[in-house]
Amino acid sequence: MPDRYAIVGNPVSQSKSPLIHAEFARQTGQALEYIRLEAPAGFDGFKATVDAFRAQGARGVNVTAPHKLDALAYATETSDAAHLAGAANILAFDGGRVRADNFDGVGLVNDLRLNQGFDVAGRRVLLLGAGGAVRGALLPLLAQQPMGIVIANRTEAKARALAAQCGSAAVQGCGLNDLDGMAFDIVLNGTSASLAGELPGIPFAVFGSAQLAYEMAYGKGLTPFLRLARDAGVPRLADGVGMLVEQAAEAFNWWRGARPDTAALIRQLMVPLA
Ligand code: NDP
Repeated sequence: MPDRYAIVGNPVSQSKSPLIHAEFARQTGQALEYIRLEAPAGFDGFKATVDAFRAQGARGVNVTAPHKLDALAYATETSDAAHLAGAANILAFDGGRVRADNFDGVGLVNDLRLNQGFDVAGRRVLLLGAGGAVRGALLPLLAQQPMGIVIANRTEAKARALAAQCGSAAVQGCGLNDLDGMAFDIVLNGTSASLAGELPGIPFAVFGSAQLAYEMAYGKGLTPFLRLARDAGVPRLADGVGMLVEQAAEAFNWWRGARPDTAALIRQLMVPLA
């Protein structure tokens, strides 16, 4: 029987993960089964679903909303990235061991480097939001040695707490209203505002000298954030489809010890930003 994996979330019907992992398995010549598992909301629902899947011999799961915190609580071992994020997007099962990690941030950094041609080293980075995606992105971005990272969030206290928790002088937290007069090389929207067709309340001027505006949400086309960046003259716009595929490639490698190609799949899944 092939090794079994799943994406666990609620809902999961829209998830591209089964398609992505099937393509990776095809590319690398590996036999595996990858399914969708919708788990009832709450830790108990997550645990019951994952326990049952493990009883059928499952080797691992990817985890999406709303269960990333439940996945962390379920784990017996946690990586630094998952710990700082306070959330796991992947689990690996090995007997009684449950290892948790979070590859959203590595996926983002790999997308910037490999697909957007953007090197974070020495650059001024603005991260909008302070939820799971930003928390996952912070350490991998910091590891690239940017000149500085500003985390700006609607609820200012969360941005300040996250900056303090990561313990680096290169990271500062503030409210969206504090961004006046600041300039950045890259602006990343890690808020969920775009999912509701909304724009995080940021000053137009933050895009002043930016070379790249990056929307972590994907499949939404030209979101209000990307439209604002385009109108501000930012020369390059990207959404999070590359982040999604790159984190999946990282996951596949972690589970299976084989690194698939991502470029063609990203092109296939990309929605035009127009
Ligand atoms: P969370 O729910 O954990 O965090 C949401 C964040 O967005 C909070 O900081 C919240 O601020 C902020 N926010 C929500 N609405 C608004 C608004 N109208 N204006 C300003 N700020 C707002 O979400 P996630 O971190 O999990 O996801 C964030 C985004 O990242 C989503 O678009 C998601 O699709 C995307 N994502 C993409 C991935 C990929 O692979 N491409 C992977 C993971 C996420 P406050 O604290 O004030 O409530």
